Amino acid sequence: MVSSLFLCGSWGFHAHRQINRLAVFTLPPEMIGFYKANIGYITEASVNADRRRFAVVDEAPRHYIDIDHFGDSALYTMPRYWKEAVEQYGEDTLKAYGILPWHINVMYYRLKDAFLMRDPAKILSLSADLGHYLADAHVPLHTTENYNGQFTGQEGIHAFWESRLPELFSGEYDFFVGKATYIENPQLEAWRIIERTHQNLNDVLQFERQLTAEMSEKKYSFETRGKQTIKVYSYEFSKAYHDALNGMVERQMKASIKSLGDFWYSAWVDAGQPDLKAIINYKPTEAELAQRRKEVEEWKQQQVKVRVHEDEN
Ligand SMILES: [Zn+2]
Repeated sequence: MVSSLFLCGSWGFHAHRQINRLAVFTLPPEMIGFYKANIGYITEASVNADRRRFAVVDEAPRHYIDIDHFGDSALYTMPRYWKEAVEQYGEDTLKAYGILPWHINVMYYRLKDAFLMRDPAKILSLSADLGHYLADAHVPLHTTENYNGQFTGQEGIHAFWESRLPELFSGEYDFFVGKATYIENPQLEAWRIIERTHQNLNDVLQFERQLTAEMSEKKYSFETRGKQTIKVYSYEFSKAYHDALNGMVERQMKASIKSLGDFWYSAWVDAGQPDLKAIINYKPTEAELAQRRKEVEEWKQQQVKVRVHEDEN
């Protein structure tokens, strides 16, 4: 349980991939050709930001914000702009409790710059990363200090909600979200997303607690993965929880897809709608491919280390 939490740390790989891939289909005709031509990369790179968490010191706090650490009304009173937030709390404190909504804004501006430069490699890697952070911003447990139910005796709920539930049930979801629309203010939009996401937190915790009381002996089952037998939330418990959430996981996945399309589209519009057809035949250079290979190798090395470490416990 714990191992999968730290390896994934956000929507399971499966959900991240779906969100990035499906956002492509929200785009207008001027954009969709370029994104479709690179949809394999956009999909695969959806989890690069999580992979970097092992290698880049500053990466982890970009994936969450423990907004409730700052008090009950912080969701509405926290300064929306980074500069003011730093003035009020200091950079170290903000980084300790997560910087997700501000980082989304940073990524938006980087993507806009990449469009201005018509740099296909940058457009693609930033588009994929932005998808990752926006998706994380739609996970209620990415907006709280109690991110794994550790303060309420609900350890494991993080990976349960964001990995196990979508893996079991997202095949039944209707992912039609319509066309991307323009965002006036990306920074305020990032906060609007956090507000809406956080409003789901109470249900996320409460339904799990209720169902645990009702069906505790059926909560877990065992599954065989390769040579290992692991304890998982049982199908029955997962189904009951998923039903109690009443479409929440589907709504949050859909909202992730829509907002990713919106952010891509707005960055492109704000960069003056550059002609993407001119770069549609882009192929990564040998150096870019070597860099991608290196990143994957480093990530695999880190995973081996994590596993060794776990076996020691
Ligand atoms: Zn993440």
